Amino acid sequence: MHYSTKIAAILLVFFCTSFQNIQPVTENNSPGYKLKTVVIDAGHGGHDHGCSGSKSKEKNVALSISLKLGALIEKNFPDVKVIYTRKTDIFLELHERAAVANKANADLFICIHCNANPSSSPYGTETYVMGLHKTAANLGVAQRENDVILLEDNYEQHYDGFDPNDAASHIMFSLFQHAYMDQSILFAAKCEEQFKKTGRHSRGVKQAGFLVLWKTGMPSVLIETGFLTNVKDEKFLASEDGQINMSENIYRAFKEYKYEMENAGGKVDAKKIEEAEKQMNKEEQIISENNQKEEFVNGLEFYVQYYASEIELKISDKKFTSLKNENISYVKDNKWYKYRTGPYSTLDIATQKQSSVRKAGYKDAFVIAYQNGKKIPVDEARLLQPK
Ligand SMILES: [Zn+2]
Repeated sequence: MHYSTKIAAILLVFFCTSFQNIQPVTENNSPGYKLKTVVIDAGHGGHDHGCSGSKSKEKNVALSISLKLGALIEKNFPDVKVIYTRKTDIFLELHERAAVANKANADLFICIHCNANPSSSPYGTETYVMGLHKTAANLGVAQRENDVILLEDNYEQHYDGFDPNDAASHIMFSLFQHAYMDQSILFAAKCEEQFKKTGRHSRGVKQAGFLVLWKTGMPSVLIETGFLTNVKDEKFLASEDGQINMSENIYRAFKEYKYEMENAGGKVDAKKIEEAEKQMNKEEQIISENNQKEEFVNGLEFYVQYYASEIELKISDKKFTSLKNENISYVKDNKWYKYRTGPYSTLDIATQKQSSVRKAGYKDAFVIAYQNGKKIPVDEARLLQPK
């Protein structure tokens, strides 16, 4: 054996043994915090399929990744109690999922979902913490995930009158998770970091008002593991390899998070949070810029016209409060001032918007279309859209 190789081997043995010796002492030094219980929540289930791809359903992908993740934690951390909100294909209400975590006094709550978009181009992962959405896209994800309460009985009673279709409703509960924000962001950042490391496209750590995270009394995240509406993402998420990859990534994030938190007595390093938050804001800015650069194919633009007036009203007018998260503008058409939300790049998106604008109190709202700035009939615009 070469001399320097020998030294390297001795050093390696030394480091390995000293690491083994040090570790228990470090743990004993921080008796304050121990990650003992984790709740894994596979999104949707039963008659709630979640979103769908061409052949896969969100409820099945989420369950498979959740079970694999739980098995990894159980195997490697026998001291950690793993609780699943569901292990089979059953329907659970959102408040029941949060109640499982609260009742177990869990130290971490991980919700696993898949994303969807009217366009097939978006792909990649997003990890959400509870908070106020900074972009319309984030609000859209939360609205879609919160929509499932419409399948529940008595949902008005369970969520304090929350209306998933009302953008304003998504502002009211932004502060409940505040006490656990730092830990949630830290864990979320670790998940996204792992996804990136194994070649996934990380869309970053984000914030929005998810009902399932609303009243949980512990650090909580919701992971959108990819877009089932994107061909490549769906192929990956529907495959055994893809599901194993995702569960291993979340497991590695869990392991790192547990280790860091236990060694710091449950406190989060302020510097790490600052880094994660900076990253978060940067990602948000990029996404919102990208949204503004939405592609308008064939010069087509769609709007939802919801109001007309002979008097000019400002878009900040109190009348329009229920639409304050929408992009509002108005045009003068003869003697009328016409108010609309948009523009949207496809008729599909505009039609979805039409229903949320109607629910926001403008029951007669309707879709209008323009081509290269000139108003055209919607039916004509429909035919001009790329197939
Ligand atoms: Zn979902």
